Amino acid sequence: MQFRDLKTQYQTLKPEIDQAVIDVMTASNFISGIQVTELEAQLASYVGVKHCITCANGTDALTLALMTWNIGTGDAVFVPDFTFFASGETVAYEGATPIFVNVEEDSFNMSPVSLEQAIEAVLKEGKLTPRVIVAVDLFGQPADYVAIRKLADKYGLYILEDGAQGFGGRLQIDGVEHRACSFGDISTTSFFPAKPLGCYGDGGAIFTDNDGWAELIRSLRIHGKGLDKYDNVRIGMNSRLDTIQAAILQVKLKAFEDYELEDVNKAAAIYTRELSGKKELEGLVKVPLVKEDFYSSWAQYSILLNSGEERDGLQAYLKGKGIPTMVYYPKPMHEQTAFAGVDCVKVDLSVSTGLCKKVLALPMHPYLKEEEQKRIVEAIVEKLGR
Ligand SMILES: *Cc1c(COP(=O)(O)O)cnc(C)c1O
Repeated sequence: MQFRDLKTQYQTLKPEIDQAVIDVMTASNFISGIQVTELEAQLASYVGVKHCITCANGTDALTLALMTWNIGTGDAVFVPDFTFFASGETVAYEGATPIFVNVEEDSFNMSPVSLEQAIEAVLKEGKLTPRVIVAVDLFGQPADYVAIRKLADKYGLYILEDGAQGFGGRLQIDGVEHRACSFGDISTTSFFPAKPLGCYGDGGAIFTDNDGWAELIRSLRIHGKGLDKYDNVRIGMNSRLDTIQAAILQVKLKAFEDYELEDVNKAAAIYTRELSGKKELEGLVKVPLVKEDFYSSWAQYSILLNSGEERDGLQAYLKGKGIPTMVYYPKPMHEQTAFAGVDCVKVDLSVSTGLCKKVLALPMHPYLKEEEQKRIVEAIVEKLGR
């Protein structure tokens, strides 16, 4: 059994993907080929924003966004304490200070209450200038952008949506459906192979409606180019999406739209039905909550156990049965060695810290079969059920 079955996906899409790669090889337009521009237009249209700029990976996408706003020394950037390292790493890399914010136990996403406390704490201290909120769409579900946008407006902050896991997620606001990667002033995603929309290596993208920022990002990603690559008007980076990856993503985006997103939601519904329908598991396993008006792209299906011992025991038991699971994330951001000595804790982070002990991600992907899911749930009942 695969945790995320990229092999079956490839076998399903093989004729189109092989042809797309051969086309790039034949044209030998490996850098900035037409497929890159086409993909950017397709992604912008899918998300519903004006500009999409692809780049080398999701981490660079975050860095490019922070560079666009000139975030650096003396700036406070608010980051959820429960996320992948890059959400905070990029902030520190730019010289700014990440301030970690507690998350909600049911959605795993940034708590707006904790966010406001953190902003107030930074203002009261008066050492740093609050500038940006990095809101992460963790495990595929958009963050609470209604509440977060209110706070951004109240305190004059930018929202940087880290949609690395969120591509395909949705949120209805006042009856209008919005897609993930449209919620930030700038939004980013990652095409790392295991993300909801993945390529066959590293890749990323940046989304914005702002013409000026889009132009700046297009310059920053290619050595701060002016008129061309050899006219350099600012310090930038080298961060492009390879043409081969763009060509593969064109095929995968179509499958994602046609059936993958729907199928992964069906798989999530089966887990939730099977796990919450079992009397033997009552009070022992908490299934992930998708809040009303939200739709997830299920980068992960993470259950919560009652304690670290139960989680570790279950993980070992499932491993023995050939069922792979993962712990996202074993450590909260503020406990990472890299942030030791950084004054990044201003609020209570106990929810995030607790989640790291109790969370367990089950195999999840659009090609998961109902029989496999039933086997997984049966194994959980064998180990934990009463
Ligand atoms: C994967 C991920 C990133 C980084 O993306 P890469 O393409 O691996 O650089 C950033 N933020 C979150 C939340 C992620 O899950």
